[in-house]
Amino acid sequence: MLVLDPKWDLETDVVIIGYGSSGAVAALTAAEAGAKVTILEKQRRGTGPEVGNHYSTSHMSGGVYLQPTEREATIKYFRAMSRMESGYATTTEHGWSGDDLIDAYTDEALHNHEWLEAHGFVMEKVGEGAEHNLPGVESFVSYRFERSGVGMMRRFEELIDAEPNITVLYTTPATRLITNTSGEVLGVEAAAGETNPQTITIRANRGVLMAMGGFEFDEDMKLNYLKVYPTYFTGSEATTGDGVRMATEVGAQMWHMNCASARIVAKFPEFPNAFSLWMTGVRPTPYILVDKYGKRFTNEKFKGHTLYYELTVFDSHKLDFPRVPCYWIFDTKRMTSAKLAAAGGGVTGAMGRYAWSSGNVDELARGWIIKGDTLEELAEKLEMPVENLVQTVQTYNGYCEEGVDPEFDRAQVDLLPLGEAPYYAVRMWPGGPNTQGGARHNAQGQILDMYDRPIPGLYGSGEFGSLFGMLYPSAGGNLSECFAMGRVVGREIAKNRVYVGAK
Ligand SMILES: Cc1cc2nc3c(=O)[nH]c(=O)nc-3n(C[C@H](O)[C@H](O)[C@H](O)COP(=O)(O)OP(=O)(O)OC[C@H]3O[C@@H](n4cnc5c(N)ncnc54)[C@H](O)[C@@H]3O)c2cc1C
Repeated sequence: MLVLDPKWDLETDVVIIGYGSSGAVAALTAAEAGAKVTILEKQRRGTGPEVGNHYSTSHMSGGVYLQPTEREATIKYFRAMSRMESGYATTTEHGWSGDDLIDAYTDEALHNHEWLEAHGFVMEKVGEGAEHNLPGVESFVSYRFERSGVGMMRRFEELIDAEPNITVLYTTPATRLITNTSGEVLGVEAAAGETNPQTITIRANRGVLMAMGGFEFDEDMKLNYLKVYPTYFTGSEATTGDGVRMATEVGAQMWHMNCASARIVAKFPEFPNAFSLWMTGVRPTPYILVDKYGKRFTNEKFKGHTLYYELTVFDSHKLDFPRVPCYWIFDTKRMTSAKLAAAGGGVTGAMGRYAWSSGNVDELARGWIIKGDTLEELAEKLEMPVENLVQTVQTYNGYCEEGVDPEFDRAQVDLLPLGEAPYYAVRMWPGGPNTQGGARHNAQGQILDMYDRPIPGLYGSGEFGSLFGMLYPSAGGNLSECFAMGRVVGREIAKNRVYVGAK
């Protein structure tokens, strides 16, 4: 928004919009470099997960981060992933992510673990390698914070509360970016909040950082930008694409708008957020996934962060997305083996807000789980062709007997026959953790215009315009980026010259 001769209510060096992990790392880095930082956060300060409290997607995350250990191998992996060398090659020169950004991210991410340790975070090693079988995959290990995403964010909150150079304004949603006649971003307009009964303007002498997450909870944006609709997300309902609107107004280039780190989720009307469900249970139990016509469509084995794309198939004759919704079908063995939603290693996503019942009895009573005494009854309740579901289960059980799945190559250990009635189903939708789209930024975090020129005074980091495109590297990729690029941009923005009376 161009404002001639603006009047400023507040003045600071750096304005950071959004208090997730990315904004937090950037704020600490800029403050440690001597800059005065003001964080604008739209949610209210609060310690619990109630809707409206400061409970960002970072709080709701599993708190796992991917740690590269070797530079060249890491770069190889990201370049292969960026150009999708395992499938089709992209025809653009730099693929989805751009080599400069991959290099800058890698160089910084190599130091994530040591930075976190130096700042008093507690974490444990939980894995080796990464999700895709691509060159360089051996370069990664992963760690999880004590008490997952909430534990991580509580440590950020302690550090930020103790940092005299940082002020946090809660319930203060940024609404517009303020520019001068040359298009430089001078500051931000924010709606009324706890500390300010009216709209305020804040002058940012060294720059504005947009670290406000994605557009998981803006229905129009999801319909227009993602590959299939509806898509439901498991993170914070505060991520309503405000950054997309604000950055578009000042001429920013958007990228990765059709990309999501996602799979399949359950969505129940009582909660804004979707639920990740636990297919296998404590011990492997039989289950299949079928489309709305009762047919299997994939190797059901947990597909990391890309199963989502398989749900985007469209039938041009029926004018229908046959896998939206799809159904998780299981028998009594799974129903009685464990809660259907119990994320391993910590309470994440909507599970922070809902106590799933033992034996799944409440969820059956709520209608979240659908039961049929026979397969025929289940198919009728799901309004799918009865003969299809019965045939699908018969065929699948035959594969289990033979120990081979000629259709989808499901591994032998995973081929467990369905047979113990009653049968159950949960309606599943495209969705998962997060979108990756937002304003495109360069290796220094500067947001670019449509001609790849930095917009002066404007920066981006984290999930808002993530460097990851269609493929997501592995569990822990987003937080790893938030930490690494948060530090890059925090240093960069802090060293900017102070504007002197720019108009
Ligand atoms: C259930 C779940 C599990 C996940 N697990 C992992 C994991 O283990 N590892 C991993 O790497 N990734 C994981 N992810 C993804 C990861 O959590 C996110 O991509 C990452 O936390 C995003 O961080 P961020 O700082 O960019 O944004 P966010 O954490 O989304 O923070 C953005 C902040 O901006 C605020 N905001 C939005 N609009 C405005 C506005 N207009 N004005 C002011 N403030 C605003 C929001 O309220 C929010 O506090 C998971 C996601 C989910 C949902």
